[in-house]
Amino acid sequence: MGRLEGKIAIVTGSSSGIGKTTAEVFAREGATVVLVARREERLREVKAWIAAVGGAADYVVADLADRAECDRVVETVIAKFGRIDVLVNNAGIPDRHMPTTRTSDELWDRVVAVDLTSVFHLCRATLKHMETRGSGSIVNISSIGARGLAGAAYSSAKAGLLALTRNIAIQFAGKGIRCNATLPGPTPTELNTPEALATFDPEMPAVTARHFDLSVPEADTFDQAAAILFFASDESKAMTGQCLTVDNGATL
Ligand code: NAP
Repeated sequence: MGRLEGKIAIVTGSSSGIGKTTAEVFAREGATVVLVARREERLREVKAWIAAVGGAADYVVADLADRAECDRVVETVIAKFGRIDVLVNNAGIPDRHMPTTRTSDELWDRVVAVDLTSVFHLCRATLKHMETRGSGSIVNISSIGARGLAGAAYSSAKAGLLALTRNIAIQFAGKGIRCNATLPGPTPTELNTPEALATFDPEMPAVTARHFDLSVPEADTFDQAAAILFFASDESKAMTGQCLTVDNGATL
């Protein structure tokens, strides 16, 4: 308890899955958590749950595919709380494992907009404030898909996220601002329910499955939140530009 005491933390994609668990864990560790996603009813429920266990949370409804919305999220948090100590870029959408040959322009643009460009916009807006204070921790949620183990758009966006993470880390090394990434392996959330999996491309899941051990148990959202908390907190204060895979060893 108390590993994020007094911190102001934005967690995007916190209406469900890994982001929701991360927001709840952060609040238990003393952070004031700002929840961000599109579904307001879900955000209201997460905020109420955090309040019920004695934590502090607020939310901003936003579609992060829109640059102006990303800027508005940051401006709203600064106006209300005066600073941002932690930014977790977790919001993401899948590409249904669509290979290059079957990826439409629309699918590519949408996945890259949400999974990569929104992170650039949020980081750029947030770093201006972190730079003024000379402190802050950014955690980007990539994926084992960054190794090509998903569809073309998702794999590319998640790999781009790793380069962005390292680039920010290099710029701010030794200046009090850190940027790290986690790479979740398969984790049961709304992203991969049986209904969602039924919409996946028929070819790619079998192809990519040859590259990791399906007999290994899946990590859960608390496993993912633990790694994100580690990078968000001062326990990792000497680490920046690092990428941590959380998959029970499935891709070793
Ligand atoms: P999830 O339960 O579907 O959560 C995705 C979150 O992103 C939701 O809160 C969703 O909220 C939000 N989101 C999606 N599009 C958005 C947009 N345009 N604007 C704002 N928020 C948006 O899936 P998850 O598994 O927890 O995924 C979290 C992250 O982990 C993602 O980046 C994903 O790529 C990554 N990941 C997951 C797995 C896995 O197996 N689960 C594996 C590797 C990586 P709204 O719909 O309310 O907007």
